[in-house]
Amino acid sequence: MLMCKDLAGIASDYIDGELSTGQNLSVKFHLMMCGDCRTFIGNLRMSTKLMQAHSGSVPNEEFIREIDRRVHEALEQKKSRTTDSD
Ligand SMILES: [Zn+2]
Repeated sequence: MLMCKDLAGIASDYIDGELSTGQNLSVKFHLMMCGDCRTFIGNLRMSTKLMQAHSGSVPNEEFIREIDRRVHEALEQKKSRTTDSD
């Protein structure tokens, strides 16, 4: 019998669909009886979806440009700091 603390440990695997069929059934059975874990899984699933949606909606190019900008900024700061000390 799956306990709440067991479920918490495998919840993200359950959401990702990485559990074995037996484990998957145990989770589903537990969720049928346990409102707390339904809420817990619901929240976790929501935040997982949000993260996935977010990372999916940001184009790689933009991400690379952002890194480029930060590296550039860091270099500029380094440069100005070097000129100060020189
Ligand atoms: Zn529970």
